[in-house]
Amino acid sequence: MHKPTFDVDAASILFNLPGYRVVSASPAVGDRPRQVIVETITCEGACPACGVFSCRVQARPLQHVKDVPCGGERLDVVRKRRYACIEELCPRRSFTEETDQLPSRARVTTRLTEQVITACRAEPRAVSRVADEVALAWPTVMRMLTSTLDLDSGVDRRHVAHLGIDEHRFRTVRYLRDPDSHAVKRVEPWSIVFTDLDDGSILDVVDGRRGATVRKWLAARPRWWRKRVQIVALDMSSEFRAGVRTALPRAKVSVDHWHVVRLANDMGTKVRRRRVWELHERRGRATDTPWKYRKLLTCAGDRLTLRQRSRLQEILAQDIELAVAWGIKEHVRQLLAARDTASFQRHWARLASAVRATRLPEPASLMRTLRAWRRELLTFCRSRVTNARTEAANLTAKTIKRVGRGYRNHDNYRCRIIGYAPRPIAA
Ligand SMILES: [Zn+2]
Repeated sequence: MHKPTFDVDAASILFNLPGYRVVSASPAVGDRPRQVIVETITCEGACPACGVFSCRVQARPLQHVKDVPCGGERLDVVRKRRYACIEELCPRRSFTEETDQLPSRARVTTRLTEQVITACRAEPRAVSRVADEVALAWPTVMRMLTSTLDLDSGVDRRHVAHLGIDEHRFRTVRYLRDPDSHAVKRVEPWSIVFTDLDDGSILDVVDGRRGATVRKWLAARPRWWRKRVQIVALDMSSEFRAGVRTALPRAKVSVDHWHVVRLANDMGTKVRRRRVWELHERRGRATDTPWKYRKLLTCAGDRLTLRQRSRLQEILAQDIELAVAWGIKEHVRQLLAARDTASFQRHWARLASAVRATRLPEPASLMRTLRAWRRELLTFCRSRVTNARTEAANLTAKTIKRVGRGYRNHDNYRCRIIGYAPRPIAA
């Protein structure tokens, strides 16, 4: 083994490229950026064909390789050695040296690739911004991400007991003309996010919004993986529920309580609007007490201050139908607070008889929806598994989308979301 015959100089220490020393540097001239010529500190290389070490240098070609910004500028020139193979029987006559920092045919150093990937993974930044910073093109950075990150295999290695599924729109609505029928069609690109509810990590992002997409994704998982899923938390999407029931017949479905409360609040709002039209034949105004304090009607009844409570009583005293709708909403909240089957059934019976007694169309419609989700509501009450972490993952996905000003390609979108990992994907 040959040892380097030079002393380590100050420029090499400052440049700090492992395994290399700085030979010379030239300042930026016009469009040409600053150039640094570096050379490996070893004086020999192993032939990739026969493995025999050679120190007979045949040529020293210059290769343009981009490196991390140093003092504000980047482009570097590397001097590579081309060795002649000294093994007579070797079919390869010569070979170029390779190092960890500069693999064969690399146009960027390994430390620049690592910096780019860390920048994209650590923060939900736009890929174009990261690319601008290191003077690379957007496709180059995206290629670095797609080729380095393992986006697929991590999911099937995880033990997912509680699964969350939710959807969001990943790009703007478009109107496309069908080439055959010439009819204009509205296209809404939706994405489904699968989340592990135990730690909140994103398992996958899939193009589509139908139950069939959910079923297909779940069917693609290994059998043991599907058997381990105990509870799937959903918002009130019957398509997703059908997909989950087909693909995971053993898993229970839990409906997220936030969506149920919102449904009950919407019912109250519908009654309030209808009553204003019936009484005044116009929309609500700031002079109408229910309209003025409308936010109070959607607040949790047991968490009001004394002042809020007196205002609420003022509103409810004016309109009996509104008071009834508010009472139904509070019944729904009590139902969701149940923790076991017995108290759930008790609250359910109370709610059903209260809705029957109101004879109003809005509570009856709410009750029909709740009846369709009764089994899932009971699962929620017993397990308390919610979709909150999926909603948080959805928010992360939307943040990445907004920061990047939208994505046209779903594969790039998926890579960016799964690649942005505050938590590691593999368990
Ligand atoms: Zn050889």
